[in-house]
Amino acid sequence: MSNSGLPNSPHTDGLLGGTSILVRPDRSFISEVSDWFLHTGREKVLRQEIDREFPAEYLYFLKSTKLLERSLVPAALSGGPDGWTPYRVAGLSEHLAFHSFTHWLMWHVSSLSAAPVWMSHNTEVQNTYKEQFRSGMVGSFGMSERGAGADWRHTATTVKRLTERYVANGGKDYTGNGNVSSLITTFATQADGGPRDYVLFRADSHRQGFQLVGNAVPEQMYVSEFRLSDYAFGDEDVISTGPQAFADAVNTINVGKFNLATAATGLVSRALLETYRHTSTRAIFGQTVSSFGQNREGLCRATLRLIGMKAFNARCVDHMHASGPDDNRYVVLNAVAKAKVTHDATEVIHSLADGAAAGHRRRRPPHPPWNSRHPRRPPWSRGQRRRNPSWPRSPKRSREWPSWWRKA
Ligand SMILES: Cc1cc2nc3c(=O)[nH]c(=O)nc-3n(C[C@H](O)[C@H](O)[C@H](O)COP(=O)(O)OP(=O)(O)OC[C@H]3O[C@@H](n4cnc5c(N)ncnc54)[C@H](O)[C@@H]3O)c2cc1C
Repeated sequence: MSNSGLPNSPHTDGLLGGTSILVRPDRSFISEVSDWFLHTGREKVLRQEIDREFPAEYLYFLKSTKLLERSLVPAALSGGPDGWTPYRVAGLSEHLAFHSFTHWLMWHVSSLSAAPVWMSHNTEVQNTYKEQFRSGMVGSFGMSERGAGADWRHTATTVKRLTERYVANGGKDYTGNGNVSSLITTFATQADGGPRDYVLFRADSHRQGFQLVGNAVPEQMYVSEFRLSDYAFGDEDVISTGPQAFADAVNTINVGKFNLATAATGLVSRALLETYRHTSTRAIFGQTVSSFGQNREGLCRATLRLIGMKAFNARCVDHMHASGPDDNRYVVLNAVAKAKVTHDATEVIHSLADGAAAGHRRRRPPHPPWNSRHPRRPPWSRGQRRRNPSWPRSPKRSREWPSWWRKA
């Protein structure tokens, strides 16, 4: 045990790698995700992002690997060996963001949709989410409204109780996955209730009464705006009601939206890696760009700040892991991480642009982030098939291999 009374952190190494928050048994998740991005190919992922193309094949990946069920459903409910743990969710968040922000968002919003459901007492709705995650359905979190923003008490979407059913009316903005999801965890006020009468319920984008307005952001990621007009649902879709619904929604931000911080370190890790690659392989005025004094300092500062951000995130996850009826320190720490780490991450990424400059194309495409245990050995150098012809051949056959590779 450490001085603070917490168990020693199980992640003791790899602060700079993409896997630092993951405990060792969870690293197979990372390999699966890496292999899929490797197989899909960097060029395709990049082209889809530029063309704002919806990554439909990613949904097949989530379905075939059951990644949503294995990472987001608590083991006690799924009956399987895997399940939601703070380490697994944070580690996967960081790693997905390392590869692609859109792919991260689709998984992350699913985690937001799930959190209030696991806090619910309605086993029927829990079973629905469990089954749908198993079949690869992504989740969605319908909280934000244009008129209310962070001020949830002024949520305008209402739910009215009829004899047998409930009917919802209103609309939501900025709802990730709202274009495809059947698991839209939606927050509303009771039409005939008092000021603290809230309700969280499951909405389905395929049902009558649901109208998709469009994408609220001009990006590849789909952050939907939708309307509910006399949208009917039953008791089986009610997640929680009254002040409990508000409390569960707030705690979803504490444990779920916190992962904006882990996504931020994933993005910075990738930006740093790409900047190292670029600046150490480009030579001007007879020397590599990375050897200029200000760039050495910039890279050094960025690396140290990334280590600091990762260490802070890791401590937050430790506190979530150790939390209980007498210990809710994670509530304060997670809020600080969500605000501060994300803010610092944008600063670090901007600072790296000084070294990367215009990012001139090299003759050889950058290397994909292959197996993290052997970052300098591509899979095909170990006798595996080279899946993307645009990737470099094995080191032996290369005439233009960067010097740092040969030293490895
Ligand atoms: C890419 C993306 C994806 C998103 N996905 C989802 C999603 O899936 N589901 C969902 O529900 N929402 C989603 N959102 C919406 C996001 O959660 C909202 O941005 C958030 O609820 C804040 O609302 P707002 O942007 O309207 O800011 P506002 O509420 O208008 O706040 C603006 C600013 O006012 C200040 N402020 C606000 N409240 C306070 C306060 N109490 N004290 C001091 N200062 C304050 C802060 O500086 C704040 O930044 C997404 C947003 C983005 C950009």
